[in-house]
Amino acid sequence: MIDIKSLFDYEIENLIVENGYKKFRAKQIVSWLQKGVEDFSSMTNLPKQLIDFLDNTCYISCAKIERKLVSELDDTVKYLFSFRDNECVESVVMKYNHGYTICISTQVGCKMGCTFCATGKSGYSRDLTASEMLSQIESAQKDLNIRISNVVLMGMGEPLDNYDNVIRFLKLVSSENSLNIGMRHISLSTCGVVPKIYELADLGLQLTLSVSLHAPNDEIRSSTMPVNKAYNITELLKACRYYIKKTNRRISFEYAMIDTVNDTDECAVELSNKLCGMLCHVNLIPVNSVKGTNYIKSKIERQKAFIDILSQKGVTATVRRTLGSDINASCGQLKRNSKEGGI
Ligand code: SAH
Ligand code: SF4
Repeated sequence: MIDIKSLFDYEIENLIVENGYKKFRAKQIVSWLQKGVEDFSSMTNLPKQLIDFLDNTCYISCAKIERKLVSELDDTVKYLFSFRDNECVESVVMKYNHGYTICISTQVGCKMGCTFCATGKSGYSRDLTASEMLSQIESAQKDLNIRISNVVLMGMGEPLDNYDNVIRFLKLVSSENSLNIGMRHISLSTCGVVPKIYELADLGLQLTLSVSLHAPNDEIRSSTMPVNKAYNITELLKACRYYIKKTNRRISFEYAMIDTVNDTDECAVELSNKLCGMLCHVNLIPVNSVKGTNYIKSKIERQKAFIDILSQKGVTATVRRTLGSDINASCGQLKRNSKEGGI
């Protein structure tokens, strides 16, 4: 079966024309899909024969709400969505002054095995299709009756390990006939799949690249992020410099602060030496505790000291505001808790 929502307009047109239907029918189909219809029989201006053809050859992918949690602290909403094979992923909608941001998943699980991450601990099942990424946004918009203005690919999964589907999604979501969310309103977070950072840089998209660094040297990074054994910090930062040169975009480095593991003054000095002079910003995130790990978030004084040391070298850093802390808003945790019969 063809996943019609993952197709570009011209591909729908080719499909329709190759099967003997008029070109203008493709536009009608695209417009129905844009309206969010969930079955072909709702496309009431199509001839019955075409509806039958679509029913027999294609499907419309949807993200069904399995669970929904609303934060009492800040209205952050967390969803557990399921797809047609019953696989589930999480998405989180956050409200900021400038509008709504959704954090979507790109894979069911993740292969990368970062030791501090709930998703990493649950293993990997499969990649998401472009339409499944789009559907998370559509379902949340419909459910909350809002328009989402910003998208971050920071949910479950490693986007650059599902490169082709993610690029297709980025092109679709930013197109006028789809959700029309501009690249400058999209962030993609990666643990550092170096060859794909080069490929992405060469596309010259104007999205924001976030790089999950989380350590100032290979020793610490390899102990928490296995991907570092394949692509070490020197190679990763070289790729980041290439990305900046190609796109002229500032990179944001994510740094989950873990008590005594990566939050010492020495770590801050080492990090500032490595990032000094780069067009970048460091987002410090006090690590979220995850069942099965004994990582503790860094104390406020440590966070402040870290920022001071970085700023002495001209590296800007801020502590990221935590939203939805009462609903375990960081991804991977709802699914894990559901499986274990928790919340
Ligand atoms: N796989 C991608 C994107 C998804 S993870 C990546 O790793 O970048 C999104 C972000 O959450 C990453 O920066 C990741 O390192 C971070 N993260 C995962 N578990 C965390 C935890 N327990 N506390 C704080 N940040 C965490
Ligand atoms: Fe995967 Fe990102 Fe979690 Fe690492 S932090 S296991 S790359 S989702």
